[in-house]
Order: sequence, then structure tokens, then C-alpha cells
Amino acid sequence: MNNIAILGAGFSTSTLCYYLNEKDIKVFEKARGPGGRSSTRKVDDIGVFDHGLQYISPKDKNFSEFLKLNKSVKQWDGDFVEIDGKVSVLPPSEKLIGITGNNDFVKSNINLDQCHFKTRIERIEYQNDHWKLIDDSSNEYLAKKIILTLPQEQTNILIKDLDLKFEIKENFMKPCFTVMLALKESPIFKHSGYVIKNNKIISWCANESSKLRDLNNKDLTLLTLQTTEEYGFANFKRYRENKEYILNEILSEFLDIFKIDESEVIHKNVHGWLYAFSENQSSEVFWDDKKYIGITGDWFTGGRAENAWINAKLLSEKIDRS
Ligand SMILES: Cc1cc2nc3c(=O)[nH]c(=O)nc-3n(C[C@H](O)[C@H](O)[C@H](O)COP(=O)(O)OP(=O)(O)OC[C@H]3O[C@@H](n4cnc5c(N)ncnc54)[C@H](O)[C@@H]3O)c2cc1C
Repeated sequence: MNNIAILGAGFSTSTLCYYLNEKDIKVFEKARGPGGRSSTRKVDDIGVFDHGLQYISPKDKNFSEFLKLNKSVKQWDGDFVEIDGKVSVLPPSEKLIGITGNNDFVKSNINLDQCHFKTRIERIEYQNDHWKLIDDSSNEYLAKKIILTLPQEQTNILIKDLDLKFEIKENFMKPCFTVMLALKESPIFKHSGYVIKNNKIISWCANESSKLRDLNNKDLTLLTLQTTEEYGFANFKRYRENKEYILNEILSEFLDIFKIDESEVIHKNVHGWLYAFSENQSSEVFWDDKKYIGITGDWFTGGRAENAWINAKLLSEKIDRS
């Protein structure tokens, strides 16, 4: 039996692994590797796309200092502009990214030997003084303490029958899509990031090539597009039925905005995030010091990595005190 089982291998878990005084930890993650929504897609001969978290702009002084101690983080340089009929340069602000990809930060604190990947936990049961976890292949694991770092809806599903003093609120997390594109090297994209205003489909375009990562093919221009929440909401069902349709609809809008011919596109892919962002719900992270179950995540206070860090740090302090 492990001392602590943590569900999810994203930014929250990375923070917990760093701060918890306990090292006998097992991490259970449904995906193939660590990252969660701070994820990076590598495409052979093309390069690296941050198709989840785009960058970190730390507001909290402690978070900022913490990030600067992390050797896997660097500044994302260049101009960031807003497109709203005309192009205007935005005021400069600190933007931090991973040196090789935005999952670098998560990877830097999670020991891979502690992880069970491709393991979706489907049920958890309290058994007097410990927890039983059951995965999607009916394997069972035991742990004295358990921490959930999953998006809100996935947390709600696992805890609904547990009789905890935790208020289950309706899921407020919103979907979006990201499109990963490689174009023949294009002189049009001289800025690092583009905020697209007043467009029903696309809200943001990141110039991945401007991140200057070693794996990026220098003969190509790599871009990641992010859609509006409204488009995500309206189209998630369709995405599940016909991914290609959604990809081509977003692509066609992009080509129109930037006046580019489709023949310039040499790689395209889309990823749908069902639980991408949340508003600040002003909730406090949960720790039950009798049953030893904790719940955290960015969504308690708003869908940003900084909130994932603040909340996970807070939970680790509660656990260490109990
Ligand atoms: C497209 C996009 C762009 C973003 N841009 C920014 C940005 O620019 N700046 C910023 O600060 N934040 C941004 N964010 C938000 C940021 O990514 C999150 O705040 C942060 O990654 C949350 O980390 P987490 O560990 O709390 O949750 P997650 O990263 O969601 O980790 C939860 C993990 O749990 C796993 N999981 C779920 N259910 C189960 C289960 N039953 N069993 C096992 N594992 C399970 C999931 O696979 C996931 O890996 C963005 C998010 C998205 C989607």
C-alpha cells in the first residue's frame, strides 16, 4: 500500500510532488504521459506544438520566484499583437514557456517511476482506514491517502457517492479546440502571438516557431490556433462525430483572416478540450483529515496554471499539518 495516491499528472500534481513532505506517492494518469492541460505535441520532422497551456504570466510574487528557480522555464520573446480590423502591438508582459515544450514544468517535478500512465481510475472506495482505487481494467490499488487533481466534472463523478463534506457544484468548465498547423515558411508571421478580436471561431494564434525550440523544423512556420469558448460549446458534439469537419472549418477561417492560400498548409491537426477553462468559483481546496482525501485543481479559483499551483501548494500545507 502506498501512502499517497494522486489522480492526474498535470500542473497540480507536479506542484504537490514538489511540496508534499511525503515521498511514497503513486500517480495515476489516464493519458500516455505527464502534462494534462499543460501539454505538448511533438510531430516528426515538423516540430513541437503547445496545444494546451500557451504561456504563464505570473501575477503572484511567490509563484514567479518559484518558476524562475525552475531550470526548464524560459521567457517567450517577441511582439504580441491584437488583430481587430487593424493590427496593434500589445503592451509587453512577462510570458514564460518551457524550454522544450510547455509540459517541461510538469515533467520536472514528477518522477516517472511513480506513475501509472494509461490508467483511468473509475471508482474510489473508502475502506475504514485506507482507500481502494479501481481502474478501467478492474485492477485495484490501495493507498492511505488520496488526492484528486482532475477537472471538475471528472472529480464530481468520482466523489458523488462518498458522503464527503464537500459541496459538489455543477461543472462550469468550458470547452475549446486547438489547431496545430505547419505552413511553408511564411514571412507574414513576424510576431510571436496574435489575439484575434471579434471573431466567432478563432481567439488566439501562437507562432510556435518564435519559441525557438531545437526540434522545430526551421523551413516551416508552426502555429497553434485556439478557438473561442462559444465555438467550443456549440461544436463539441460535432467534433466527436466529425473531427475533420471542425478542423477544416477552423482552418478556413484562419486562411481567411490571414489571407493565405490552402496550398501553404503542409500539416494540420485538431485537439478538442472538453474541460479547458473555468471562471473563478472562489472555492477553497478540500482536505478531510479523518478520511484522508484531498481535492484540488485550477478550477477552484479559475482556469490558469497559477491557480493550479496556488491551490496545490495550499493543499500540501494542509496535508503536512494534519
Ligand atoms: C487550450 C488551453 C490553453 C490554456 N492556456 C493557458 C495559458 O495560456 N495560461 C495559463 O496559465 N493556463 C492556461 N490553460 C490552463 C492550464 O492548462 C491549466 O490551468 C493547468 O494545466 C491545470 O492543471 P491541473 O493539473 O489542475 O489539471 P489538468 O492539467 O487537467 O490535469 C488533470 C489530469 O487528470 C487526468 N485525468 C482525468 N480523469 C482521470 C481519471 N479518472 N483517472 C486518471 N487520470 C485522470 C487528465 O488526463 C489530466 O492529465 C490552458 C488550458 C487549455 C486547455
